[in-house]
Amino acid sequence: MSKQTHAFQAEVAQLLHLVTHSLYSNKEIFLRELISNASDACDKLRFEALNNAALYEDAPELQVRLAYDKDAKTLTITDNGIGMSAQEAIDHLGTIAKSGTKDFMSRLSGDQKADAQLIGQFGVGFYSGFIVADKITVESRRAGLKPEEGVRWISGGTGDFEVETITRAERGTSVILHLREDALDYANAWKLKDIVGKYSDHISLPIRMEKEEWKDGELIDPNDENGGRKPGAMVKTGEWETINQASALWTRAKKDISDDQYQDFYKQISRDFENALSWSHNRVEGSTEYTQLLYIPSKAPMDLYNRDKKAGIKLYVKRVFIMDDAEALMPTYMRWVKGVVDSADLPLNVSRELLQESRDVKAIRDGNTRRVLSMLEDLAKHDKEPEAKDGVTDVLSEEDKAKLGQYTRFYAEFGAVLKEGLGEDFGNQARIAKLLRFASTHTARAEPVEAHPSTGSGRTEQLTSLADYKARMKEGQEAIYYITADTLAAAKNSPQLEVFKKKGIEVLLMTDRVDEWALSFLHEFDGTPLQSVAKGAVDLGKLQDEAEKKAEEEAAEAFKPVLAKLKEALKDKAEDVRVTSRLVDSPACLVVKDDGGMSLQLARMLKAAGQKAPEVKPVLEVNPEHSLVKKLDGSVHFHDLAHILFDQALLAEGGLPEDPAAYVKRVNALLA
Ligand code: ADP
Ligand code: MG
Repeated sequence: MSKQTHAFQAEVAQLLHLVTHSLYSNKEIFLRELISNASDACDKLRFEALNNAALYEDAPELQVRLAYDKDAKTLTITDNGIGMSAQEAIDHLGTIAKSGTKDFMSRLSGDQKADAQLIGQFGVGFYSGFIVADKITVESRRAGLKPEEGVRWISGGTGDFEVETITRAERGTSVILHLREDALDYANAWKLKDIVGKYSDHISLPIRMEKEEWKDGELIDPNDENGGRKPGAMVKTGEWETINQASALWTRAKKDISDDQYQDFYKQISRDFENALSWSHNRVEGSTEYTQLLYIPSKAPMDLYNRDKKAGIKLYVKRVFIMDDAEALMPTYMRWVKGVVDSADLPLNVSRELLQESRDVKAIRDGNTRRVLSMLEDLAKHDKEPEAKDGVTDVLSEEDKAKLGQYTRFYAEFGAVLKEGLGEDFGNQARIAKLLRFASTHTARAEPVEAHPSTGSGRTEQLTSLADYKARMKEGQEAIYYITADTLAAAKNSPQLEVFKKKGIEVLLMTDRVDEWALSFLHEFDGTPLQSVAKGAVDLGKLQDEAEKKAEEEAAEAFKPVLAKLKEALKDKAEDVRVTSRLVDSPACLVVKDDGGMSLQLARMLKAAGQKAPEVKPVLEVNPEHSLVKKLDGSVHFHDLAHILFDQALLAEGGLPEDPAAYVKRVNALLA
């Protein structure tokens, strides 16, 4: 194939522009990206060679080599991994296959630091080379192809690239960066060693650089011992030294790994720029043997709520990389966990399909799940300063001090997803329930927790646990009460809360989309039932005294004829009409008939999402003490008043009257 010119896919051109213009404050990551590609290429070769050892040709030792040439102003990263065919070079270096890229582009803020972080989350990979190079030459040959089937790819990082066929004896890839004037300092051994130590120490592959030695300059006058010399210089020795640890981090003993090393490794595998919140590293022995190193990130990714997002676990078998995103190793509600699992038992040729069925994998997933729950329990336990006991406060260890506020941070980012576990993981439901936090009528507003700049998650209200709620329950209170609504304001002002407010009973305010669905799986907490205040008739049990109950019954009795007329007037809208004691200030409210029913809010949400929702006919509950309700009896406007009561109750809980114009007409007629 002779020289061909190809245009970059439009997104690539856009991305390239962005990479070169917004990443210059964080230039050095290019090396991490290119070394990571080299390492991926070696992993791929190792994997393909499991079935075809000939691919190793005569170079079975996989490695990465760094070389620079100050005069030519180049830095070259060479690997002897899988390599690329000409078509692969065109495809992989000319297009962005990753689906998240468009989304990523749309989120750019123009703020350099924030954008650099975003790029980190998405990993611009190969194109980051253009941060330091104004031209990149890639020479490659795929393992198994003939030497004449090599490829050269050249681009200046603007609109297009060139490809041609070359002869290349050694398999694998060389990425030759033609350094920009302001990046010439990367052609320096110390600098390169420093960056490799920072980002790529734990790549399980040796990264090598040619040793240099100081050589004095020649004597100017060989006959005169003191005649001076030409200037000396570092010269290459032809001997290659390994400049990274080259051992997989997770295989080392915990005590030999520093926190910084754990964090660097996290950044390497997660592409996150921020530190992880917490991690856990264990060798698990027993019927299935494996090593797990699991991290809790400190920020949620953009696509957190996408349940199809794959788990961030890399699977290794006896240190051989098998696959990224091994979703079978984590339950879906823990899809945000990042880490590595290295199994001693799984076969090397394990496929995703096989993983789904393997008993070992199930054991690993269960072990991972339990481990993450313990990590969260530990963070939750140390979230706040311990309270003084008998006037004595414990002095916190440095380790515990570092955990203060961490659970709150975690929960603001990932709490809504953790709730999915109530419906997904019945075995751990009780543990998950203990980890949940909710806004409540009894907790004050606190300092806002910083919101995630891109997902907007983050909360401004103080949250309470179910255990703390239980501890505050009134004497005679038999249930944990909660309400679900679209917003915190709607929840707080809901008419359904009135009697609870009057009696000082705490109600949990739930505003996450997932709440109603998730809570439908949680029937009790630590022996106490959970009860939605918007479902079924209000039952305050022992919190209501005999006199109140009697008054209510009498009111219901006296109101019977009016109720019958209301029922008749509203028969198309309301399932039933009844008297309630849950209202204090409002004339009426809507509830769902029985405990198991779907709330009006959820039904609306499903409809809005274009999903099929059952027709929910609510029950209208009226407050016999309210003047508007008292007026009903004998009113000439009975029919209009009945409909206004119903429509207003709907409005109050965030719905819309079926026929808004008719509602306005009725109200106006009465006002006039
Ligand atoms: P990613 O590594 O996330 O796939 P990159 O932009 O870093 O994205 O790389 C794009 C693709 O180019 C890789 O998926 C791979 O197919 C190919 N590639 C890049 N570098 C190499 C290399 N050193 N050897 C073989 N293929 C490579
Ligand atoms: Mg990459």
